[in-house]
Amino acid sequence: MSALEEKIRLEERDRRLEEIATRLGVRAERGRRFAELTSLRVGGSIDWVISPETEAQAAAIVHELEQADIGWRALGSGSNVLADDGEHHYVVLSLSEMKGEVRVSGELVSVSAGYSLPRLCIDVARQGLTGIEGLGGIPGTVGGALWMNAGAYGHEIGTVTQTVRVAREGHVAEIPGDGVQWNYRHSSFKEGELLLGATLRLRPDDPEQIRARMDDAKSRRLATQPHGARSAGCFFKNPPASTTGTGKIIDEMGMKGARRGSAVVSPVHANFIVTEGENARAEDALALAEEIRERVRREQGIELEYEVELWRANQPAKQAEAESTAPEAEVDRKER
Ligand SMILES: Cc1cc2nc3c(=O)[nH]c(=O)nc-3n(C[C@H](O)[C@H](O)[C@H](O)COP(=O)(O)OP(=O)(O)OC[C@H]3O[C@@H](n4cnc5c(N)ncnc54)[C@H](O)[C@@H]3O)c2cc1C
Repeated sequence: MSALEEKIRLEERDRRLEEIATRLGVRAERGRRFAELTSLRVGGSIDWVISPETEAQAAAIVHELEQADIGWRALGSGSNVLADDGEHHYVVLSLSEMKGEVRVSGELVSVSAGYSLPRLCIDVARQGLTGIEGLGGIPGTVGGALWMNAGAYGHEIGTVTQTVRVAREGHVAEIPGDGVQWNYRHSSFKEGELLLGATLRLRPDDPEQIRARMDDAKSRRLATQPHGARSAGCFFKNPPASTTGTGKIIDEMGMKGARRGSAVVSPVHANFIVTEGENARAEDALALAEEIRERVRREQGIELEYEVELWRANQPAKQAEAESTAPEAEVDRKER
């Protein structure tokens, strides 16, 4: 497609998008950047950010986008995403306004995808429900946690998920949690699936004991991870065949404190890459990550796999990706 044809296509897309957002009463913004929307505080411009507030609205809007052949990606709190510095010509469906209300009925807890995971952990602990207190220190939304089967300190969200609400043909549909494969930092949801909410099945326990376990997980986190730094948590997964964690492997290579421009290997936890400065660049974080992978490959014979998701500006977004003939290998979303 020539530059002129691409410009005309995008203008037509913009008109469609404005019409859809107005009709459905959903906020649509231009001029946002990934640097404002991700915890690493890096990343380039986004054509559109659309922020539904209810599950029904989100289901409707994603259906309309698909009908209009407009590519999109879902974003929660952006705490597991490294978006590159380029111009991202797709729609970001921001779910962080879709908070809804937590509904508790006995041991069942229903929550929308945009609800904060740490907040939910506090809410259910107060209600005397156990099963997710280990997740209390994981930043992000419930939707992001479901997508990557977030886990910490012996708990994983997938193991307590009874049902997941997803968008289907413009409506909210419910699927059983045991129909989803929940693996290490990975779920079997496919590109193009929008998660709207979930019902968790927890167990009753003494609120004080739950709170004590949550505090314990918090202090262990504070002792071992950088606090208040701009990161995306662990950058790489732990290698399946190794008994040594990735953080320790990188640390033993003497890479704590290694720097590429605005990106640094955290001196506190070597599997955390943190960014610094007003104009930090994704390119620096990526270069540092690749340097780490190269050294680990050379010195340990281990192929590190990204835990953080790499979003490329020149890579098709979800819906376009599902329909494209692009080879699987070009998709940076490991294992997904
Ligand atoms: C300091 C720090 C510590 C961390 N510690 C941990 C930890 O201990 N354990 C752990 O597992 N993770 C950890 N993380 C990573 C991150 O917090 C989790 O992965 C979190 O669950 C991501 O949620 P999010 O809302 O930020 O998702 P995002 O980063 O916004 O998105 C992550 C992925 O989920 C998809 N997604 C998000 N919402 C939806 C939706 N509603 N529908 C469809 N797809 C969706 C996105 O498209 C993207 O592919 C840490 C991160 C930080 C910054």
